[in-house]
Amino acid sequence: MTYPYVPAKYDYGVRTGPALGLLFHMAEGGGTVGYLSRTPPRGVSVHAVCDVRGVVTQMLPWAHISGSLNPSNRSTDKGYFGRSHLLAVLGNRWSDPNGAVLSMEIEGFASLGPSAEQVDAAVAWGLDMKRRYPALRGALGHADQTDTKRCPGTRPQMQAVFARVGGHGIWRTPTTNAPANGEGTLKITDPNPALVDVAKGVEMFSPSGQSLGLVSGPISGQVSPYEVEVGGGHYRLLRAAPDGVTQVVLVHNPDANARPVPPPAPADCAVQVETARRVALADARAALSALR
Ligand SMILES: [Zn+2]
Repeated sequence: MTYPYVPAKYDYGVRTGPALGLLFHMAEGGGTVGYLSRTPPRGVSVHAVCDVRGVVTQMLPWAHISGSLNPSNRSTDKGYFGRSHLLAVLGNRWSDPNGAVLSMEIEGFASLGPSAEQVDAAVAWGLDMKRRYPALRGALGHADQTDTKRCPGTRPQMQAVFARVGGHGIWRTPTTNAPANGEGTLKITDPNPALVDVAKGVEMFSPSGQSLGLVSGPISGQVSPYEVEVGGGHYRLLRAAPDGVTQVVLVHNPDANARPVPPPAPADCAVQVETARRVALADARAALSALR
């Protein structure tokens, strides 16, 4: 899909991590494209505006950072919106929320909600972003990040936007390549350790089957202690650091490019391989026992 393009006044440069969430606002008025293209107060910008007719205008390159949230704001759980959604979707990037979202202003008022045409247009945009950015894992409203605004409101039409892009908060539906929710069904199918290489951009999953986003740089020669089966699919278990936190992740077998661990040479590296294998095994056991 392509969109009419009007540059926003404020562009915060290229995103440094993956886009994790869609973010929706209601604009509390109209004329939003013009407003954001001039010199709006507080350096506000968004990636896209859905106008009153349901026309979506792009205002920033999708790979750039918009400025539609005040990072110093804080939120609490308060019914539909709340901080737990922010944390579930953005993880440890919650405190730099503008850097982890693709944002949209919908013209109109939170108290009325979007029109039927706007719902369709906002949903089409959200699904388009999901196709372009498969690491997206949830949808947020402004009020998930702040207690100072009732934006974008909870009218049924607004809730329909969230429902139709995959749900408000973290999306539970696994993507095509994902293990089904594997709680209690994770089975070791190959107990032999292997060295795995994973290309940049491959999707990682938690042991319970949730998407953890895409591998941000190539992984090579990582020791994987087991192959496991989850929901009928085969995965290699390894240690990786999605969002900077080292943890046990699953990578779909064909993507894992596993090769046998070479026989230990009487050199220092054999010690390193053995140590890495033991650490990986301990992690794997912890992850497995947490599931039981
Ligand atoms: Zn807002």
